[in-house]
Amino acid sequence: MTGVHVIERDDFDALLGALARRSYTIVGPTVRDRAIVYDEISSAGDLPIGWTDEQDGGHYRLRRRDDEALFGYAVGPHSWKQYQLPANVKLWRARVDQDGGLSEVTEPPRESPRLAFLGARSCELHAIGMLDRVLLGGVHPDPADSARTEDVFIIAVQCGQAGGTCFCVSMNTGPVAERGFDLALTEILDGAMHHFVVEVGSERGADVIQEVPHRAAVDVDRNAAQVVHARTASQMGRELDTTDIKGLLYRNFEHPRWDEVAERCLTCGNCTMVCPTCFCTTVEDVTDLEGEHVERHQRWDSCFTIDYSHIHGGAVRHSPRSRYRQWMTHKLASWWDQFGTSGCVGCGRCITWCPVGIDLTEEARAIRDSEERPDAND
Ligand code: SF4
Ligand code: SF4
Repeated sequence: MTGVHVIERDDFDALLGALARRSYTIVGPTVRDRAIVYDEISSAGDLPIGWTDEQDGGHYRLRRRDDEALFGYAVGPHSWKQYQLPANVKLWRARVDQDGGLSEVTEPPRESPRLAFLGARSCELHAIGMLDRVLLGGVHPDPADSARTEDVFIIAVQCGQAGGTCFCVSMNTGPVAERGFDLALTEILDGAMHHFVVEVGSERGADVIQEVPHRAAVDVDRNAAQVVHARTASQMGRELDTTDIKGLLYRNFEHPRWDEVAERCLTCGNCTMVCPTCFCTTVEDVTDLEGEHVERHQRWDSCFTIDYSHIHGGAVRHSPRSRYRQWMTHKLASWWDQFGTSGCVGCGRCITWCPVGIDLTEEARAIRDSEERPDAND
């Protein structure tokens, strides 16, 4: 079940072929609308060959690399969440009877395609595990989540460069994927040399490799992979001091920094849409124009909408200040109480895709640096 091998770039399509023969639908990175997104792919030609991403607070641009790397970018706006918890799920459809009652209630079938995730980063594997814990580990597990993901074949790709907003090292979630994959690839590009060092993580991973031309890795290959991993770890675009971060945020519900960030925050919810672990949903009932049929849908929602906290008498979190504080405190502090882990994997997407460049690492640092501790001068 273990082993380290080398696959040449020219044989990459043989890997995809071995998955296709096992009836997997392969989902991986591809370029669309000037971003790297996840979609169905059928050959290496669909991958973002020779592209990289430039990321900073509120900034994302694709630009050309000077090589033909297949995975030479960090992460894009999509995450694997869209397969675990799709943005729009039809729960049922029914006929509306003359008396207003419902009949002919039908639920859509739960079967999902057999998926292979190609290109999952270490932080994303952690996010997949966290979301599974949320969706399956509670009192009311979501059976659809397990149907969608229990048979997923995962080909992780170790990051060859960190993005400008990455901080997985601070969150202990990367950059090297250590478990939770069937195969893990490290892309090696050196002059004319272009190949992949492949770590096997499961029996079915070993089975797939047998159908792909490969050779056993030697010390030179392992060392080359380690150089890539170490280089990425040293390039983190952001840093977050997580020392007692739960206590820090719980002590500072009334810190003036929440007012400052609220002046910039548009409460657009972008940060929650791109976050691989945010899981808020709502339920909507929609009728057709004749009023003869009704459908119930589960859709992504966001704690940044005023309706999300609407209960009897109005919204609980009516100000941008309260909504931003809720989001960041949940991510970094109260997730620990709810799920025994941080809610943040340090992927940096919320920083990159915030239209005004709000950066949770900067917000946490500002609160830490200006915290007034009653006992500080005792
Ligand atoms: S909070 Fe931001 S950095 Fe953390 S996992 Fe979500 S999108 Fe990534
Ligand atoms: S922090 Fe940024 S992305 Fe999130 S709701 Fe506010 S403005 Fe939108």
